[in-house]
Amino acid sequence: MGAAQDGESSSQVSVTDLSAPCCCSSRHFTVREVDVIAKLALGHTNANIAAALNLSSTTVSHHIERMLTKSGAASRTELVARSIVWGIVRKDVWPPAPTGRLCVPW
Ligand SMILES: [Zn+2]
Repeated sequence: MGAAQDGESSSQVSVTDLSAPCCCSSRHFTVREVDVIAKLALGHTNANIAAALNLSSTTVSHHIERMLTKSGAASRTELVARSIVWGIVRKDVWPPAPTGRLCVPW
């Protein structure tokens, strides 16, 4: 946290303040979507996630599609990785759990 950046890097972007509840980005996940990400982080299939969250598989697919669009992630794996970097999913507990943060910073 707070580390100075060495030189310019156009390919790397840091999330500066993960403790902030909102980065005031225009894009945010919903609480329900983040519940889905926490299950995705376990490697669950859509059917498993649907059962765990008492949703239909179709609804889970829609949540994931919306999150891929919002985040710009190319796959569900990238979506999970970004969510951890962005502080949306806790990186210090297992099984993965939401932090309460919903911001999509870039
Ligand atoms: Zn925000």
